[in-house]
Amino acid sequence: MGAILGRIGMVLALVCACLAAPAAAATLDPSCVLSTSDDLSVENVRSDPRWVCDDSFALGSARFNWLRFDGTDRADYRFFAMEARAFDSIKVYRVARDGLIGSKALLPDDVHIDESNGVFVPLPDVGDPQGPVFVRIDGYAKFRDAPRVRLLESVEEFQQSVPKLVFAALLMGLVLAPCILATMLAYALRQAFVAWYALMCSGMALTIAMTSGLAISWLTWNLSVFLAFERLGYVLIVFASCQFARDFIEQEALSAGVRSALRWSGIAILVAGVLNALVVQNPVLFGSAQLVVLAVLIVAFGQALRRGSLWVRYQLAGWSFAMVLVADMALKGVGHGGFLDTDFFIVYYAMVWEILVVATGVTHRVLMLRSDRDRARQLAIEMETLAERDPLTGLLNRRAIDLRFGDLKAEGFTACALLDLDHFKSINDEFGHTTGDEVLVAVGAALAPDDDTVAIRVGGEEFMLLMRGDNIEERAKRRLAAISLRTARDVDLLDRIVTASMGLAQFSDAAAAECSLEDYYMRADVLLYRAKQAGRNKLVAAEVGMHDIGQTAELTKERHVA
Ligand code: GH3
Ligand code: MG
Ligand code: MG
Repeated sequence: MGAILGRIGMVLALVCACLAAPAAAATLDPSCVLSTSDDLSVENVRSDPRWVCDDSFALGSARFNWLRFDGTDRADYRFFAMEARAFDSIKVYRVARDGLIGSKALLPDDVHIDESNGVFVPLPDVGDPQGPVFVRIDGYAKFRDAPRVRLLESVEEFQQSVPKLVFAALLMGLVLAPCILATMLAYALRQAFVAWYALMCSGMALTIAMTSGLAISWLTWNLSVFLAFERLGYVLIVFASCQFARDFIEQEALSAGVRSALRWSGIAILVAGVLNALVVQNPVLFGSAQLVVLAVLIVAFGQALRRGSLWVRYQLAGWSFAMVLVADMALKGVGHGGFLDTDFFIVYYAMVWEILVVATGVTHRVLMLRSDRDRARQLAIEMETLAERDPLTGLLNRRAIDLRFGDLKAEGFTACALLDLDHFKSINDEFGHTTGDEVLVAVGAALAPDDDTVAIRVGGEEFMLLMRGDNIEERAKRRLAAISLRTARDVDLLDRIVTASMGLAQFSDAAAAECSLEDYYMRADVLLYRAKQAGRNKLVAAEVGMHDIGQTAELTKERHVA
C-alpha cells in the first residue's frame, strides 16, 4: 500500500513539475504568406504585391510557398522550424545591413527527426541582420491542416510539452488495451470483424505514436520514413474501418454491391496511401480516395439503417465525429481548404471515442455470438440424444452403445444379458401391432436402467442389459420377472402372461478387456438360444474367463438359473 502511494506521489510530483515548466522562450509566427508565386528569387518576391498578411495563414499546394517573418529584431532567432511534413527543399533568406542576402537550404534527406516532431533550418549568419526573414518551401504537399511554422531561439521550444506527451501516452494505452484484447479474441473466435477491429486499433495506436511525439522520443527517424509511418497509421485505420463495416454489419443489411464497394474503397485508400508514402506525394489523389471512402460509408450506413441493422447504430454513434474530421482532411487534400481548424488532439478524441463506442458494439456482438453458440450446442446435444434413443421405449439404441462401449467396459460393465420375448409374433398376430408396441413399451419400463444397469433395445423384441456390481444374476432375474408383471399391468387387452428368455454372460475382468461388443453379444446370444431351447421363460447364465476366450461361444459352460 505504502509503495503504491509512493508511486502515485511520484507521478503527481512529475506532473506538477511539468505543469510548472519555465515559460517558453521567444517564438515568432510568420507575418505574411505568398503561396501563389512561381518566382524563385527572393529579390523579386520581396516586392510582390500578392503577399497575404492577415491571420488566415495557409500553405498552398503551389510549387513554392513563401513565408515572411517581420519583427525579427525583437529576439535572437536562430532557427526556422516546421512540423514534419513532406517537402522538396526549404531555403531560408536573411538580409544583412549592407543589403547582401545570406541563405541556407535544407533537403529532406538531411532531416533527422528525433527530439521534436519538426524540421529545423538554422538561420544564415549574416553578421548584422536587418529586415524580415524569408523562407521558401518547395514541393510542400498539403494533405491536411497547415503545419506549425515558426522562428525559434532554440530547438527545444518546438518540442511537445511533457503534459501533452503524458496525455498522448494515456490515450495510446487506452487504444492499445482493446487492440491486444481484440487480437486474442479474433484468434479465439475466428471472427473477421474482431480482427478488423484489432487492426483499426493498431492503426490508431500508430497514428497517436507518430503524431504526438511519442515515437520520436524512442527513435530517430529519417523524414520520409517518419512520414510513411504516419501515413501508414492513418491508412490502416481507414482501410480496416471499411472492412470492419463490411463484416460487422449484418449480412442481410447490406447489398452485395455495397459490400464489395466497402471492400474495394478500403483497398483503394491503402493503395493510394502506399503510393503516396513510397512513390509520389499526391494530395489530390489521396484526398479523392478519402472522399470515395466517405461516400461509400455514408451509403452503406444509410442502407443498413433502412434495413433495420442493429450494429450500424454503434458505428454511426462511434464514427460520425471521426468522419467529419476525415471529410475536412480530404477537402484540404483536394484543395478545397476544409472547414475546420484542427488541432491533432481533436483527432485523438475522435479516435478514442470511436474505439470505445465500437468496443461496446463488438462486445455486444460477441456476447450474442456466444449465446447463439450455446443454443446450437444445446440443440446438438438434443439431436444426439434423439439419435441415440429408441423412440418407442426410450431406451438407448445399438448406436449409443457402439459409441460408449469402451467407456462402459472401463467403468466395470463386464456382464451382458440378452433377452428376447417369447412368442411375441403371436401377440402381434392376435392383438395387433399396436398392442405389440404397448408390450414393448412395458418391457422397456420393466428393464429399469440404473447406475449399474444399462438397458438397450437391440432391435425388434430383443433387448440387452449391460451390468456391473454385485448380485448380477439376481438383478437380471428380477428384471425378467418384472417383464411379466409390468406387461400384465400396463397392457389391458392381453389374455396371457408375457415372458422372455435371457442369456447372461458374466466376463472376468481380464476376459472383458479382450472382448468387443460383438463378443459380448455372441456369448450372450448362445446362452439365450439355450434358454429358448430349454422351453423359454428361462435364464441361462455362464461365466466367461480368459480360457474361454479362445474357444467358440458354443462351448461355453452354462448354468440354468431359472
Ligand atoms: P420366439 O419365442 O422364438 O422368440 O418367438 P417370436 O414370435 O418372438 O419369434 P420372432 O423373433 O420370429 O418374432 C419377432 C416378432 O417381433 C416379429 C415382428 O413382427 C415383431 N416385431 C419386431 N419389431 C416390432 C415392433 O417394433 N413392434 C411390434 N409390434 N412388433 C415387432
Ligand atoms: Mg426375436
Ligand atoms: Mg421372440
